[in-house]
Amino acid sequence: MDQVFAPWRIEWIRREEKNADVEGCVFCELPERDEDRENLLVARSEHSFVLLNNYPYNPGHVMVIPREHTGDYAELSGEQLLDHARLKQRTFEALEAALEPDGFNAGLNLGSGAAGGSIGDHLHTHVVPRWHGDTNFMPVIGETSVIVEALEDTYDRLHEAFAAQEGATVPGENSAVVLE
Ligand SMILES: [Zn+2]
Repeated sequence: MDQVFAPWRIEWIRREEKNADVEGCVFCELPERDEDRENLLVARSEHSFVLLNNYPYNPGHVMVIPREHTGDYAELSGEQLLDHARLKQRTFEALEAALEPDGFNAGLNLGSGAAGGSIGDHLHTHVVPRWHGDTNFMPVIGETSVIVEALEDTYDRLHEAFAAQEGATVPGENSAVVLE
């Protein structure tokens, strides 16, 4: 059976449960909090950040998100675009070092409701590592407790890989890696 690549259909079901106390835009609020590890925020650049998906299509499924609250790609400034692109580049590099995938799917969903996600008003690029012959990870591992452990393990590996990059610093025990 062919696997349909559509992680955005389900990603927010669990995130919305987990972040029930977030009133505004979750992509605006999470980077403001001092709880990077708990929120699975693994790396930050000047204008963007990398968040693990709570409901991953595959291990290492992350989103690279500009800090700017907009759903319109044309609204990002040149500086924000470049920062977001560079962070994507460094995310591929970190995922390669941490998980050794065979390749990636990466994509941006534009337009309200176009891709079934509920966060159409804040841009985010999905990056999903792929392995030859992989199948959707979630039905394979099933139980929530297993998923949480898998996410923490992925977080640690990815955090370590980002921290090894040039110009990376880790300001605190539970902080995301800060990239120049
Ligand atoms: Zn936002």
